[in-house]
Amino acid sequence: MRISLHNTLSRTVETFEPLERNLVRMYCCGPTVYNYAHIGNLRTYVFEDLLRRTFEFSGFDVKHVMNVTDVGHLTDDGDDGEDKMVKSSKESGRDVYEIARLYTDAFFADTDELNILRPHIACRATEHIGDMIALIKRLEEKGHTYVAGGNVYFSIDTFSRYGELARLNLDELQSGARIDVDRNKRNPKDFVLWFTKSKFENQVMLWDSPWGKGYPGWHIECSAMSMKYLGESFDIHCGGIDHIPVHHTNEIAQSEAATGKQWVRYWIHGEFLINETGKMSKSKGEFLTLSVLKSEGFDALDYRYFCLGGHYRSQLVFSWKSMESAKSARRNLIRQIQRLLGEAQHPAETLSEAAQSYLTMFAEHLGNDLNAPRGLATLWDLLKDSAIPADEKLLCLYRMDEILGLSLASVEVPKEEPVSIPAEIQQLVDERIEAKREKNYHRADELRAIVEQAGYRLTDTSNGTVVSKNV
Ligand code: AMP
Ligand code: ZN
Repeated sequence: MRISLHNTLSRTVETFEPLERNLVRMYCCGPTVYNYAHIGNLRTYVFEDLLRRTFEFSGFDVKHVMNVTDVGHLTDDGDDGEDKMVKSSKESGRDVYEIARLYTDAFFADTDELNILRPHIACRATEHIGDMIALIKRLEEKGHTYVAGGNVYFSIDTFSRYGELARLNLDELQSGARIDVDRNKRNPKDFVLWFTKSKFENQVMLWDSPWGKGYPGWHIECSAMSMKYLGESFDIHCGGIDHIPVHHTNEIAQSEAATGKQWVRYWIHGEFLINETGKMSKSKGEFLTLSVLKSEGFDALDYRYFCLGGHYRSQLVFSWKSMESAKSARRNLIRQIQRLLGEAQHPAETLSEAAQSYLTMFAEHLGNDLNAPRGLATLWDLLKDSAIPADEKLLCLYRMDEILGLSLASVEVPKEEPVSIPAEIQQLVDERIEAKREKNYHRADELRAIVEQAGYRLTDTSNGTVVSKNV
């Protein structure tokens, strides 16, 4: 199956060609673990999961790597402010490593509930400091760095393609730049590779380096870890669109300056989840998490369904009303599957041409720049088509769900609640059995009417009379 994706580098939808036959090497920027993930962050991970599942559905092997940022991410992506981890540690009184553990576990608990497949490699920044130092040394040897005020900077003027991904107009930026707080920078867009001059007291995360005791800048971790696990050139790099102008721009500069070759072929960016008042962000204090949604009566998969209802390259506006719609659509889907299971018990083993055409159309929508909303529409069309037998519908739905990840195969026919029959009703039932044995059918019918009026149903089967509650 052909897969086309919007590549931020070219701003066009391109047919995907892997560097190595049948293998997709994919890196996704992971969470900064100083707080819970908000549902905006989770939207990005749902989109990346959709991408991975689409490749796997199409027969590709995927090697999926994601970092966990547990050091070096300042409150401003451009080197300003405090280290997010240190700030969170100060505020909560917990040590930084405990904070990292707590929120890393919380992150994976959320993604598991959302049926997001775990990356094959989830790598922590603090466990790869040596790889980062090695990369900075390589850049230093090639003349891309300078030391000022104790920190090591990347000099963007030594890399002629700087800003191509974001289409930055550097002249404009230069003249329009605010007087940068960091006066050590030769160019306001230069960025820190290694901090030794900590702006904060009691920085506990410090490592020895050729430039002195310190800690890495944020961007270097993604270059160092992705190249370690995926090689110096690989297929796909993902993240939210906010990362285009600074983080990903800087990642490209330092990676390609070090190796002299193209680092990533396809840059795939997901648009933001916004709320009715604008951007959703952790630094604003109040933010929505998966736990908040659950406390409002939603299931994690209602949120996944909600995300699938929007194209990953369009902004998605969160509202409780649209969450309600997603929830009721997913409930409806579950009911339909239960009905199909009642009719067919098992999915078919193969699909007829007619059923296959729905699956093909579904896969084409997903292969066409991950058009999940149209994929979902195809799923509903299939359900409405009375010419497709129940068992084929089930097989088709289960196959679609390999990409959608809504746990459709685990839907079961609801078990009938065992009914406890009150003694007086049981007595009437027994009397009726006796009346039938005596062939007093008139009395038997009278007794049936009394029992039914009391809200119970009588079914005569070859194994005797079954009593159930009317619903
Ligand atoms: P962070 O933990 O802040 O590094 O962000 C993790 C991921 O979430 C990154 O890929 C961000 O681009 C993405 N992200 C941040 N805010 C939003 C949002 N409101 N909607 C969608 N993705 C977001
Ligand atoms: Zn990154």
